[in-house]
Amino acid sequence: MITVVLFNRKKDPVEAKRKIVLTKEVIDSVITYAKSWHPNEGILILQGKKQKNVIRITGLIIPPFSSHGPYYSGFPVYELPFDLSYIGTIHSHPSGSNRPSLEDLNHFFGLVSLIICYPYDVGNIGAFDRNGIKMDVETEDTF
Ligand SMILES: [Zn+2]
Repeated sequence: MITVVLFNRKKDPVEAKRKIVLTKEVIDSVITYAKSWHPNEGILILQGKKQKNVIRITGLIIPPFSSHGPYYSGFPVYELPFDLSYIGTIHSHPSGSNRPSLEDLNHFFGLVSLIICYPYDVGNIGAFDRNGIKMDVETEDTF
């Protein structure tokens, strides 16, 4: 779970399907981070940009004062500097399922929630919006 409370759960009437694009560096870092926390959950803040229906993740931030357990990971959002490039979070699920839990959806932060599940391969990454709707994930090579 993510310790962020979101009060405004307004839904756009016509929401086009969004796509997440991850760079290879981001994927490699996420895999290393998730493995290093196993069997606990790890959590990172995603930096990126949204252009129309494409959300491009370009960086990762280790949240200050994060907590990690086998079934939860979180961070106090009030410790974060205000930064518009913070576009969501990624956390790991040691369980082997990359579906968001109810807690994950209730504590949604930003535009996208990425979940990487055991055994932490690139194919284990799932992306979800705040309604729990799955988004496509693509890999982009950076030059
Ligand atoms: Zn979770």
